[in-house]
Amino acid sequence: MDSAIALADLIVFFGQAVKRIFEAVGKFGEQYDARSLEAFVEEQMKSVGALILEAAWRLRMKGRPIPRNLPCVCGHVKHGMGKRPVTVRGVLGTMELEERYYYHCDHCQAAEFIGDELRGASEFTQLAEERMALAGKDGAYARAAVLLERLGVIRVAASTIRKVCVRLGRRIRANLDHEAARQHMLELKPEEQPRGLAIGVDGTMLGRIDPQHRRRRSRKTGRKVRGKGELSHFFQEVKTLVIFSFDRSGEAVRKTFHATQGRVDEFRDKVALEAKKRGADMARTLIFLGDGAPWVWKTAAELFPQAIQILDWYHAVEHLWTAGRARFGSDQKALWAWIESRKSELWDGQLEHVVEALRRVSQQLGAPDQSLSQEARERDPRWIAHRAAGYFDDNRSRMDYPRYRAGNLPIGSGVIESSCKHVVGDRLKRTGMRWDEEGAEDLLALRCLDLNERWDTLWPLTSVA
Ligand SMILES: [Zn+2]
Repeated sequence: MDSAIALADLIVFFGQAVKRIFEAVGKFGEQYDARSLEAFVEEQMKSVGALILEAAWRLRMKGRPIPRNLPCVCGHVKHGMGKRPVTVRGVLGTMELEERYYYHCDHCQAAEFIGDELRGASEFTQLAEERMALAGKDGAYARAAVLLERLGVIRVAASTIRKVCVRLGRRIRANLDHEAARQHMLELKPEEQPRGLAIGVDGTMLGRIDPQHRRRRSRKTGRKVRGKGELSHFFQEVKTLVIFSFDRSGEAVRKTFHATQGRVDEFRDKVALEAKKRGADMARTLIFLGDGAPWVWKTAAELFPQAIQILDWYHAVEHLWTAGRARFGSDQKALWAWIESRKSELWDGQLEHVVEALRRVSQQLGAPDQSLSQEARERDPRWIAHRAAGYFDDNRSRMDYPRYRAGNLPIGSGVIESSCKHVVGDRLKRTGMRWDEEGAEDLLALRCLDLNERWDTLWPLTSVA
């Protein structure tokens, strides 16, 4: 198409849109009210915008040299296979990318396009995909679809939003894996030079389904497993990381997160990576907050030997509650009184008293039954009390709360408690929600990228891959 004619056409289209808008304003009070009028103008401007962008993009491509071949990373070349026009859906509407050229390497099968840059990884534009991901990461996919349509962004199925979230989440994860694997070689510039930095690790349980599990089971037994069999539903731990800088009063300033269902060693690498990004090496005071799991303190000691280890206040108190309930059961009055006394002892650093009280509870309940299975021990009051006493005894050095308070160090009362909820719970643990492993991981990656104020890295990141 002659570009001069295209430009003249566009002006005509634009003029028509302006005319339609003027006519609509003329019918204000009759056919249109304020709301529908503005929506009409928005729709008109978008459709003209799509035409203008489409034409301008075509013009840009016409002025660009189209080489016959492109070099390939494998050492061979990608051969030009000619024009491959494509239709894309964006937030302005549908556009035809006519001047789009396909290249293919016969040696390694790598493919590349020229003139494809507006597109995301699907039939949508990058901006449309980004907005789908924004809506999908925070709300149920079906809800996100409704929201996007009502906001006039795009009309797509919930399953499309899910696919986009999974794809973008996967890119983020791949990039993180890449960074984590090469963090010793990469010149990672810390984002800040914090005076005080705290690293907190926690875990939360996520409802999961495993369709493979069901299929495996059915193969084994030879029987068809129907419905949502019990085996396909289970709970999986999500490990969460929160890193925050804190001010002189110990208040959290900026928080960044990571969350994964992955193995301890994978998680550990991401903890190291995020700490590096947050400038842990330069922090004058480094705190490591966590709960009792041995791998947590092992990670802390290996990665951050200089850090002050603190058993976060939230979990310490939670352990008191567990022991208290084992002792007092439904006697709320006695339970509360007991908890209040232990809390104030803990707060004042009278750990002797806390441990003594827990030993007393353990004695009152009686010696734990050695014949119980590990699972039964989790619910058995004698075992609970016995273990609580040992837990507080073992962690004395991490519960010197008066000293931490005097130094205005964070003890993780609010931040640790809210981090799991913030990253995982608010989106993935709503009533009835069950996830397959990959879907949950991808969504966690998207959520963290946004919460960590790195959302803008999404596109440079995804278009490189
Ligand atoms: Zn190649």
